[in-house]
Amino acid sequence: MTDKIRLQEMFCNEKKTLEEIGENLEITRERVRQLLNRLLGKQEYQRQLLENRLSRPHKMISFIRDCKICGKEFKGRELIDNPRLMCKHCLREYKRKLRTKIYICQNCGVEKEYLDYNRKPVFCSKKCQGQWLYKLKASKSIQ
Ligand SMILES: [Zn+2]
Ligand SMILES: [Zn+2]
Repeated sequence: MTDKIRLQEMFCNEKKTLEEIGENLEITRERVRQLLNRLLGKQEYQRQLLENRLSRPHKMISFIRDCKICGKEFKGRELIDNPRLMCKHCLREYKRKLRTKIYICQNCGVEKEYLDYNRKPVFCSKKCQGQWLYKLKASKSIQ
């Protein structure tokens, strides 16, 4: 007969994992789960299990969920306190958008986008660069 008080204390107060409790009481993880379910009731067991997990924020868990952006199902592993809300594809796109900046072409004044890890461009095209240099030369030759 397993010590119910000890079992409950380890789970609810010490927030040990099922594995840890199992090792301590020399029973299987599955047996710990069964006993706790019976002892606490299914709802209270689930609630406490979640609370215990949240108290171990360094732990990685597997997950499957729908991407908040494209709605596709995606899975992977994540830190408990840092859930992934979008799939890899949407995350890449999101990060790319965050890094997108605006520059203004020095020749034609058009607004263009560039990624901030690149050097900020001065002209929107080779053509604009050529035109600007031409204008510069022309203005110098007048002087
Ligand atoms: Zn997505
Ligand atoms: Zn231009």
